[in-house]
Amino acid sequence: MAHISLLLKDWVRIVYIFLISRFLYLLPILAFMRIGVLGIQGDVSEHADSAERALQYYGVRGSVEIVRKKDRIKNLDFLIIPGGESTTISRLMIRSGIYDEILKYAEDTLSVIGTCAGSILMARNILDDERVKPLGLMNMKVRRNFFGRQRESFETNIHIKGIGKYHAVFIRAPVIDSCSGNCEVLATIENKIAMAREDRHYALIFHPELTEDYRIYRLLFRL
Ligand code: GLN
Repeated sequence: MAHISLLLKDWVRIVYIFLISRFLYLLPILAFMRIGVLGIQGDVSEHADSAERALQYYGVRGSVEIVRKKDRIKNLDFLIIPGGESTTISRLMIRSGIYDEILKYAEDTLSVIGTCAGSILMARNILDDERVKPLGLMNMKVRRNFFGRQRESFETNIHIKGIGKYHAVFIRAPVIDSCSGNCEVLATIENKIAMAREDRHYALIFHPELTEDYRIYRLLFRL
């Protein structure tokens, strides 16, 4: 008798596994991601619009909010630090307490994505400006305004690992001089680094919010 009930339990388990596996494809639909855009200064609304369009494009449920208060950070899965003026963003981030709050959650739950000025803040070292206090989330060394006056803004095709050819917009861009430890190079420009990843954090020296190619969000938001 005990034998039969054991067999029955096994059957029930098999049926359960079968049923669950039939519905696994629904998981992305059930997922809900909470994206924040740091709203201190810079390309804030462009990033919020672009992130929303990317979610729509891939049919993923999620919310996008502009973050100005430190107590919002704990609610997020992703935080985008936009392009702008890294000296200003750095100063106000520290003054508002957002700096410490990001560090608190970036260790295990929050994924931080720095673009242009934001990428400067992701670095461990800034080689040419002591006024900016970076978050040090990625083992990289960066330089501000690397592309100089003549090429303050330009667009060019780069090759991103996992995406392929990508049209990127650079505006008074910094450069990632070097990556070490677990920091992985994802794209280069003129023998320098244009995009890198470390764990779930990303740094991009260009502006993904200014083009309508959403493939990059697939990588950044793990869609
Ligand atoms: N040059 C700016 C800085 O160093 C970055 C430019 C940008 O974000 N578009 O802060």
